[in-house]
Amino acid sequence: MTIEVGINGYGTIGKRVADAVRAQPDMEVVGVAKTRPNFEAEQAVANDFPLYAAVPERVEQFDEAGIELAGKVEELVQNSEIVVDTTPSGIGAENKAMYEEYDTPALYQGGEDAELVDVSFNARANFAEAEGADHTRVVSCNTTGLSRLIAALDEEYGVEKVRATLVRRGGDPAQSSRGPINDTLPDPVTIPSHHGPDVNTIFPDLDIDTLGMKVPATLTHTHSVNVELTDETDTEEVRGLLAGESRLFVIPEHMGIDGSGKLKEFALDSGRPRGDVWENAIWGESITVEGGDELYLFQAIHQESDVVPENVDAIRAVLGTADRRESIERTNEALGMGL
Ligand code: NAD
Repeated sequence: MTIEVGINGYGTIGKRVADAVRAQPDMEVVGVAKTRPNFEAEQAVANDFPLYAAVPERVEQFDEAGIELAGKVEELVQNSEIVVDTTPSGIGAENKAMYEEYDTPALYQGGEDAELVDVSFNARANFAEAEGADHTRVVSCNTTGLSRLIAALDEEYGVEKVRATLVRRGGDPAQSSRGPINDTLPDPVTIPSHHGPDVNTIFPDLDIDTLGMKVPATLTHTHSVNVELTDETDTEEVRGLLAGESRLFVIPEHMGIDGSGKLKEFALDSGRPRGDVWENAIWGESITVEGGDELYLFQAIHQESDVVPENVDAIRAVLGTADRRESIERTNEALGMGL
């Protein structure tokens, strides 16, 4: 029996989630909802996703653009076993009442407040907590990247304290209105940034401080991470541990990937759809343990795609159709993860 999934919001995250869900042997996409008949709406139809109007008053605009609709968003919600809401920040909260009306469990994205939902989710860290939840938030790209790393380290060594500086891309490649275009901003200038508390929605007892910056780049975020470990270890052991995690890609030195540009080029050369890097990309040479318990590293986080496999796993977690290990393996295999 396949899980019938609806996707409300077909933008940067939504279109990637739609493709990833379609690739799963145990899921099918019932349809996707869009507000406007733009190029993404055209592509949804071209890719054979039934298209639903997210704003009923705009049905005419789709008719005028010659884009065929399968119905209105309420019908999509009613016909779906679970909905993935990938609308812009804050719109998910407005949609919550609609999901409740049709008794359809919903996944939201990192742009929504943690208070909106029953549980915040990361597959590696707290898969089982989402079972049976009506409202689940797949945490942001940055929180996902930090959570994957912390979960692995905490399980093996214990974690005393995390300090991370997040050098954030100004906008996604298609976001023409974002910036800065010629500046380096402490953002937020206050410390800690909101990212640390967001990681605490996954690890409530974790001691973590984060600092944020914004730079004129679009390809990835880059994290500079320092973790104080409980048990002593060394550089080689940590490198081996991280390399053994399926959603952490430890970049080997010989590849000569010196930044996000070559990383994305490598992903494109590897045949990744849209040049996506679903894994945390950790520079192998940067992994350094000082004094037995102070770990340092740099990682790149592809903001447009690292949450995609997490959304797929969250579907199984909420519906209780697989445990963590089975789901992660199934998702990874269907997507072709592992660079
Ligand atoms: P986006 O703007 O690229 O896509 C959102 C889509 O939703 C657009 O197609 C838009 O037309 C549509 N939409 C707008 N209002 C709608 C409504 N009322 N009903 C249905 N659809 C509507 O945004 P995105 O980057 O995909 O972000 C979606 C969510 O994912 C946000 O919560 C964001 O914070 C989160 N997120 C984004 C990124 C990223 O870097 N892009 C990373 C992780 C998480």
